[in-house]
Amino acid sequence: MADAPLTPMMQQYRELKARDPDAILLFRMGDFYEMFGDDAVRASAVLGIAVTTRDRDKGDQAVPMAGFPHPALESYLAKIVQAGLRAAVCEQIEDPKLVKGLVKRDVVRVVTPGTLTEESLLDPRSANYLAAVVEVGTRTGLAWVELSTGRFSLASLLRTELADEIARLSPAETLVSELSVDAPWLRSLRAQPGFAVTIRPSWDFQPEQARKALFDQFGVTTLEGFGIDDRALEIQAAGALVAYLRETQKASLGHITRLTPYRRADVLTLDETTRRSLELVRTLREGKREGSLLQVVDRTVTPMGARLLAEYVTSPLTSIDLIEERLGAVAELVNDATLRGELRETLGEAYDLERLAARVATGRANPRDLSALGRTLALLPRIKARLTARRSHRLSRLEAAVELCPEVRSSIEAALVDDPPLTIKEGGLIRPGYHPELDRLRSASTEGKSWIARYQADQIRRTGIAGLKVGFNNVFGYYIEISHAQAQRGEVPADYIRKQTVKNAERYYTPELKEFENEVRNADERANALEYELFTTLRDRVSADAPRLIQAGSVLAQIDVLAALAELAARQGYCRPEVVSDPVFEVEAGRHPVLDALLPHGDFVPNDTKLSPDDGGLLLITGPNMAGKSTYIRQVALIAIMAQMGSFVPARRARIGVVDRLFARVGATDELSRGQSTFMVEMTETANILNNATSQSLVILDEIGRGTSTFDGVSLAWAITEHLHDVVGCRTLFATHYHELVELEKTKARIRNANVAVSESQGEIVFLHRIAPGGADQSYGIHVARLAGVPSPVLDRAREILAFLEKQHGPDPGLSEGPIRRKVKSARALQGSLFAALPEPLIVELRQADLGALSPEQALDLLQRLRDLAG
Ligand code: ADP
Repeated sequence: MADAPLTPMMQQYRELKARDPDAILLFRMGDFYEMFGDDAVRASAVLGIAVTTRDRDKGDQAVPMAGFPHPALESYLAKIVQAGLRAAVCEQIEDPKLVKGLVKRDVVRVVTPGTLTEESLLDPRSANYLAAVVEVGTRTGLAWVELSTGRFSLASLLRTELADEIARLSPAETLVSELSVDAPWLRSLRAQPGFAVTIRPSWDFQPEQARKALFDQFGVTTLEGFGIDDRALEIQAAGALVAYLRETQKASLGHITRLTPYRRADVLTLDETTRRSLELVRTLREGKREGSLLQVVDRTVTPMGARLLAEYVTSPLTSIDLIEERLGAVAELVNDATLRGELRETLGEAYDLERLAARVATGRANPRDLSALGRTLALLPRIKARLTARRSHRLSRLEAAVELCPEVRSSIEAALVDDPPLTIKEGGLIRPGYHPELDRLRSASTEGKSWIARYQADQIRRTGIAGLKVGFNNVFGYYIEISHAQAQRGEVPADYIRKQTVKNAERYYTPELKEFENEVRNADERANALEYELFTTLRDRVSADAPRLIQAGSVLAQIDVLAALAELAARQGYCRPEVVSDPVFEVEAGRHPVLDALLPHGDFVPNDTKLSPDDGGLLLITGPNMAGKSTYIRQVALIAIMAQMGSFVPARRARIGVVDRLFARVGATDELSRGQSTFMVEMTETANILNNATSQSLVILDEIGRGTSTFDGVSLAWAITEHLHDVVGCRTLFATHYHELVELEKTKARIRNANVAVSESQGEIVFLHRIAPGGADQSYGIHVARLAGVPSPVLDRAREILAFLEKQHGPDPGLSEGPIRRKVKSARALQGSLFAALPEPLIVELRQADLGALSPEQALDLLQRLRDLAG
């Protein structure tokens, strides 16, 4: 069927749509944004708005259509982006009143998950990164930018490191070349929750093209100044990012002025599983911020501080000097409660300077944004004054770094009224006295209003009609209103011209009134246009200072975080850790930061930890379920992370050797997601530890090996422990059900056993949550089952079976799961012990079998007999 000729507007629509077919095109028509065709159908599902059809009478050719009024743009953009879609915002770029026929339209911006700047679309407490990845051979180049603050970083990584870094950043959107669509690395990244990919032309990633994009962005002819000139892969990724920003933003990116190379070695490596297992920024089961380490330690009072703290938590440091520098500042703020209180109070009044500055730079700031920016700048002198003459190096440096930006502040204060509106085209934002012409237009408009009062009085006098009124409405302009009754009495002067009849009155105008109207309306319109112009000029002027403002925002963020860590330390009774290079971990009365904060004060039972190369670097913790094993080993990991963030730690005393990589693994039973065989997942992750941990690492294992049969599980746990002890030599805490492992202490120099103390009286057990030396020697599984509400007949039966088994195999202190269990006497005895646990005749039969002489059929027969014997 031949297409009917398109209207000029639909033709315009088609052209704009063709430029970016994947994005939902929001086509501005008067006061509405309209979507057509597939866009309308897709959007109606996401936005919950109705689809109608345009040109309904054309039957088959009717085009689906959906739309919303223009003030609702932000809220609809939020929904589109949350659904993982992109939206191209198309505006009328000419004033429809001034053109005949079709208005010009153009896409002014493409909104994507990774390029948001609107306050309402962003979580103030978390960074929103756009990333790009390039891969060549075994190396990858990664670049990431936060458009809403202008921070731009890049890193060169091994391919195996990519997933961890992506997990650390958790970008809202990641760009990859069309050539990588089927690459295996991309497939594995797609498995990460929340990972959203945007495919881009390979051209953008070409080395020369990418370099050129960076030259243009930074106004340079070499990248040497950034120290990245030789980093080919990162440059490719960074260039592709810039090209994408240019294409989607169509606005100035003047606030992106620096590229910061990221070095992995400077940061404590935490892989994705570790982050999740330790619930650093969200909880494992519910994925919520509540209950995470971040939430518990977050005492920041500004949004930029909250974002920086999240970065501290996910990227702890490895340099003792840098850690000490932070600790020094925190210590000073812990000791000086007045200074801390004053800083926090002042900071509490600050707005999100980083994001405000970025909105100014991209030309999206509204009057209220600028006003908030001015108010925040007004706080800087106070903050700077408080930070003078500080002892710690870090605080003195921050004091020096507070740039007051007085010109920016005074130009905002001079120009804007105290409480400006959100809109920029409707006037009311510029202060009286700021601009003579504006003042003149405004007084013309106010004078006009008193002219009306006078005119009305004159007309009443002239006509003798007391009820005569001069009014105004948007459609008809100024009018004289006289009630029907009076109008009919024939008292209306001849020069009144009838304009409109309403319910009870007649409306008229006079040539005089018309002339006046032109003047006043003109003055209003011109005043508004002038205010708009003055505002954009002001915004441009401030925009030139965006990099300094962002810098000021980052200084405030740092002060906020240090003061927040100090507040936390003071309130929760934390101590300053001693951070050293030896691979030790010595903590007195350590507490789990999250549980400690959640439990009523004093309910958490503190525990000591001592790991050192000579005195046991590998701790095996046994004990019944619910005793507190997981809590204890996580506490150790979290204390290490906090210390390396530069935070005080929940302990009486702590001496911590810097950790280069931290691994935490939770046994399969705690992690049942992700489709793969849970045991497979567990083993892949364990392999990852065994291959990547160094003697400087810290490894936390919780119930590893449980995803398989008992014998397999014990054997694997055993072998893994040996490997960590003999080959890797890292600090390790292993919480396990396998009491067999306690035997390892006898043969391995650095292994120590510990258990979680439990007291028992009259069949009741009490968990003391106290870590004691030595292996656990009782199983409390049935007691725990009772506490959990397992019905008593089941418990009785379990006791019967337990008694029976103990009678059969002798009392087995280590018994905790599975019907067949023996205490293992030594490492070498493990294999034998498995058979020793089997019924006697079976062994006899097996021993007698001459395996070399058996035919396949005979072997099957033997197997069959053995099985029968086993019952
Ligand atoms: P396990 O790993 O041995 O099964 P968990 O570490 O999960 O045990 O601890 C079980 C519960 O005991 C936790 O939810 C917590 O409420 C409590 N608990 C653990 N350790 C402590 C402690 N040191 N002080 C107070 N309560 C604790």
